[in-house]
Amino acid sequence: MHELSIVTGIIDIAASQAASAGAECIEEIELEIGCLTTVEMDAFEFAWSQGVKGTILDGTVKTVHRIPGKATCMDCPTSFALQHIFDPCPVCGSHWINIEDGKQLRVKSLIVS
Ligand SMILES: [Zn+2]
Repeated sequence: MHELSIVTGIIDIAASQAASAGAECIEEIELEIGCLTTVEMDAFEFAWSQGVKGTILDGTVKTVHRIPGKATCMDCPTSFALQHIFDPCPVCGSHWINIEDGKQLRVKSLIVS
């Protein structure tokens, strides 16, 4: 499952960050998941609840920020909100667009103790 491998990746990042900070537990984690990623949030939440058991993130408070998609058209000077990665420019219909935001999937911050 795609979402479970994402959760595993986040656990690896969190564990190495905690180790380099000399921390034994992670109280809070903040994640950014762009709306243009293929992450399905229900599946992600389920994968999280299963995946973190027995790891350093077991019991950690998790906050997820969804980052809306944003793009600029390369054929006209329009910036627009992008719902789906293959949406065209709403003004001129061009598919030649530059995606500026919404594709990230990252750990924004960790609070360790
Ligand atoms: Zn355009």
